[in-house]
Amino acid sequence: MTPMSFDQQTPNTTGLGQVDRSGHRVRVDDKAMINCRADVNQLLPLKYRWAWERYLAACRNHWMPTEVSMQADIELWRSRDGLTEDERRMVKRNLGFFAASESLVANNIVLAIYRHLTNPECRQYLLRQAFEEAVHTHTFQYICESLSLDEGELFNMYREVPAITDKAAWALKYTQNLSDPDFTTGTPADDQAFLRDLVAFYVVFEGMWFYTGFAQILSLGRRNKMVGISEQYQYILRDESLHLNFGIDVINQIKAENPHLWTDALQAEVREMLQSACALEIAYGRDTMPRGLLGLNADLCREYMHVITNRRCGQLGLSPLFPEARNPFPWMAEAMDIKKEKNFFETRVIEYQTGSSLSWE
Ligand code: FE
Ligand code: MN
Repeated sequence: MTPMSFDQQTPNTTGLGQVDRSGHRVRVDDKAMINCRADVNQLLPLKYRWAWERYLAACRNHWMPTEVSMQADIELWRSRDGLTEDERRMVKRNLGFFAASESLVANNIVLAIYRHLTNPECRQYLLRQAFEEAVHTHTFQYICESLSLDEGELFNMYREVPAITDKAAWALKYTQNLSDPDFTTGTPADDQAFLRDLVAFYVVFEGMWFYTGFAQILSLGRRNKMVGISEQYQYILRDESLHLNFGIDVINQIKAENPHLWTDALQAEVREMLQSACALEIAYGRDTMPRGLLGLNADLCREYMHVITNRRCGQLGLSPLFPEARNPFPWMAEAMDIKKEKNFFETRVIEYQTGSSLSWE
């Protein structure tokens, strides 16, 4: 066997193989999302301008949690009747869910997604996203410290609170396979496993499960409670809507380049994934809000999650799972409407460059 034929059998998809001294320069047409044989260390020429644009948008959104004052939150949290017991339970479980989830998402990007996404402009975005997940985890450390919360309780909720554990366990199924050092893409079955992981983390975790949490905390903020955390969640929401949209673009680009992967069976399976993920989120809503509060309750959150699930189905080219659903939180629709998100990024960039103010107009 010549070295050349060996190379052809095991393409250097990591970018860390032997330097190819005799190979040609990368041409745009050589580039591909997965299973690419072209050198992944050559960013230019760009093939996927959308990935580069998302990287630039993410960089314009820079912020740090410590730029947000926690003084009002600390006073409210310490005052005996600043928040009801139900509100405290909701806040703590919400923080507990996010605290570990940001790490799960980060580990999936770095240890599972990055290796198999064989395109340098997409990897450029992933490197930025990985940093943002670190900023988000930092946010929960900062909140924990500011409010003197029990750090063991907060960071173990994903192991100890069943409604949170069920979600983490559901997602981990999909990344365990991919993070196995022996896993590689390259067969239809393995490429489909990669697509499932992208759906589980980008569409479900970041695109569905974070949204009840955003609604809960922004609902507090609208009532002038926990305004520091609420502002931090708005920054996180802005980041996460980019993460979601990048993930959707990646999935749809892989589908377009590999139509044989997007079989009827896989489409049915993805719809089932979204359906079961939606059910887990509804259970989480009941657990965090056993009674109504702040104009929210578990039934409204259920309806809201149906709307979000339908939106994700549409973004993946699937028909809606809950065609009857109507958005019960028009105030959230205003913040998260796709067009609004787009305007938000395109027209309000300057204000966020310092990270010192945040406006949704
Ligand atoms: Fe995040
Ligand atoms: Mn994220």
